[in-house]
Amino acid sequence: LNRRLAEFGTTIFAEMSALALSTGAINLGQGFPDTDGPEEIREAAVRALRDGRGNQYPPGPGVPELRTAVTAHQQRRYGLAYDPDTEVLVTAGATEAIAAALLALLEPGDEVVALEPYYDSYAACIAMAGGRRVPVTLRADVAEGRFRLDLDELRDAVTDRTRLLLINTPHNPTGTVLTREELAAIAELAVERDLLVVTDEVYEHLVFDGAEHLPLATFPGMRERTVTISSSGKTFSFTGWKVGWLTGTPELVTAVRSAKQYLTYVSAGPFQYAVAEALSLPESYFTDFRADMLAKRDLLAAGLAEAGFRVFRPSGTYFVTTDIRPLGESDGFAFCRGLPERAGVVAIPNAVFYDHREEGAPFVRFAFCKRTGVLEEAAKRLGAAF
Ligand code: PMP
Ligand code: GLN
Repeated sequence: LNRRLAEFGTTIFAEMSALALSTGAINLGQGFPDTDGPEEIREAAVRALRDGRGNQYPPGPGVPELRTAVTAHQQRRYGLAYDPDTEVLVTAGATEAIAAALLALLEPGDEVVALEPYYDSYAACIAMAGGRRVPVTLRADVAEGRFRLDLDELRDAVTDRTRLLLINTPHNPTGTVLTREELAAIAELAVERDLLVVTDEVYEHLVFDGAEHLPLATFPGMRERTVTISSSGKTFSFTGWKVGWLTGTPELVTAVRSAKQYLTYVSAGPFQYAVAEALSLPESYFTDFRADMLAKRDLLAAGLAEAGFRVFRPSGTYFVTTDIRPLGESDGFAFCRGLPERAGVVAIPNAVFYDHREEGAPFVRFAFCKRTGVLEEAAKRLGAAF
């Protein structure tokens, strides 16, 4: 393994899912739903396969049906107008979109300012692109019950070598949804320092308690400098299909496509047609999905609080971050390695998402995109163990 990748090893998700399998513990680690997405969308995929749509290489930018569905979705929800022919790129999940964007937009040595804790592929992809990551730590605010962006720290992180800001809202793993004020400050900074922005909005439909998902591209001066990434995995509960997409100006999308064409070229032909139908589902699908996840959040958050964890109630995503110090613990890694034996549950130590490992040490993430009975059982086990 070369020096750029050596520090990354095996992703924590693979490690913890393997631990769940070998111990038989309930897997609240890796974020994937244990219930598949809508039956009619599965049927749409079967129809595409059967009718021979997408069984051979689809067009490089993605099938027109999906590109049009993506732009219609951006227009309908956010009033963002994109041209399906020049301003959309379909990717092999958000993961490839992130990789291709960073590979296309960074010069070796460029600095990338990213919110810490960050989704694990960000660090690896910045490294593969020869960039340097500059983390800005989201701070746990116990009074507010959320992780907060310190705008001064963000400003201080930008230097003459900064090429882009890598943002994620709703934020994995903290569950923070960046506020209008936080996003406006990010946008002002990007404009003032003439930075590109790559924004990972895969949890755009998972926001709770009146929080609102505001795409960065809707802020003044941002549309022309922002690559927005999303994915069907989270919104439609088909994480295995790996259909993602990004939107941006023709210049940015063309640049990212240059990298993407040598990574996968294309992927998931028949599934692209099915996701096009999914994006066109009636509003009730999205409302019901959100309500279902909200109930699951409340169930697991209550169980964790009862067991003695300090819970940061997420306003978005399907993860809840906890602080284990009230349990007399301080090392999330050790805690998660021992949790299957102690409680029959698997979780993720947030420290893996930090450069400043000590900042993340006491935080542990639990996924709640699981059936009610599974969450009830997990809550029961945790309650009995602590
Ligand atoms: N970004 C974030 C913040 C994620 O949580 C995930 C998946 N868990 C991804 C990107 C990757 O999405 P995909 O499965 O579509 O590649
Ligand atoms: N994004 C998922 C999570 O945060 C995991 C995806 C993966 O395993 N790469 O849990």
